[in-house]
Amino acid sequence: MVWDVSVAYHGCPYPRHVEGDLREIVEAGFTSITLCVNEYEWPNMVRVKRLIVDRAHDLGLRVFVDVHGFGFFVPGHFSIAVPKNPGWWEVDSVGRPYPLRGCPNSPGYLEWLKQQVRGIVERLKPDGVFWDEPSLIVPEDWPKSWTCRCENCRRVFHDEYGRDMPDELTQEVKEFRQNSVFRLLSELIEEVRRLDGGLTNILCLMPEHTGMHGIYSWEPVLSLKGLDVFSTDPYWIWGRRSFDWFTEWVEKALSVSKRAGLKTQIWVELIKVPRGREADVYRSVVKAVELGADAVATWSFRAGEGSEYSCEDPEAAWKAMVEAVKKIREG
Ligand SMILES: [Zn+2]
Repeated sequence: MVWDVSVAYHGCPYPRHVEGDLREIVEAGFTSITLCVNEYEWPNMVRVKRLIVDRAHDLGLRVFVDVHGFGFFVPGHFSIAVPKNPGWWEVDSVGRPYPLRGCPNSPGYLEWLKQQVRGIVERLKPDGVFWDEPSLIVPEDWPKSWTCRCENCRRVFHDEYGRDMPDELTQEVKEFRQNSVFRLLSELIEEVRRLDGGLTNILCLMPEHTGMHGIYSWEPVLSLKGLDVFSTDPYWIWGRRSFDWFTEWVEKALSVSKRAGLKTQIWVELIKVPRGREADVYRSVVKAVELGADAVATWSFRAGEGSEYSCEDPEAAWKAMVEAVKKIREG
């Protein structure tokens, strides 16, 4: 039995269009939306975001909020507050700053981020929070240089290891980078729990363990308190990988979740799917559930039509997804 089938919904600034979108989502068989709240929309779009949450609830959908941007997630989602605070920035091993990215070891950034999350949860009243690919930024010449080696990181490293932070990617530095990401996550997840114990925390980590984003292993997921769902997004069609690569990462996620006592969510892409490969969308969804995933989600509503990430034939790709949703919900 599938616990949840979600679709990423960016929202719509015009309240009158929201109703139609949400009805379509319900009719397609989805049970939740993963609602993006970008930093540049917050709080100026709070009224329409709240309306989306309320209407989704009226229609029987759960709402998980994707706290998008805010200096902590994949590049391209801009931050407004982080660039104004140089003390929050990530800095790489050769001293170059990244003004769009907050460092997980910056106390000021952490405080601000928690405050934003509190505001979002209190004002929107979602069912949970989706932590979307938290990561450290990857310098262009990775692994020659890496983040983060800002003043805060060097201070915390010195406190923990009793010596100066190396400028090379030693074993200790790798461990420290990963611990830094998980420490921040743990603070955020606990903050959500404190606000409302009934809220669901979903953590999505990218399917790679090279450490380029600060993650070398999923083992630390086992000790994250307050987490409910572990998620990954093995985008093999868009990423030009094999189907075996997709199933391998689904299995890895399932194994971690099982050991941690969490539900597993698998994302299937409706991102730049080439025309004629829509059947691969269908088979990915079905396979994820067959392998034991509790939840499936897709990025994004109507195959990203109108955006840079649109599938080549968004109508056909969306249709393939809707058929897959029908199939897995029928059991
Ligand atoms: Zn740092």
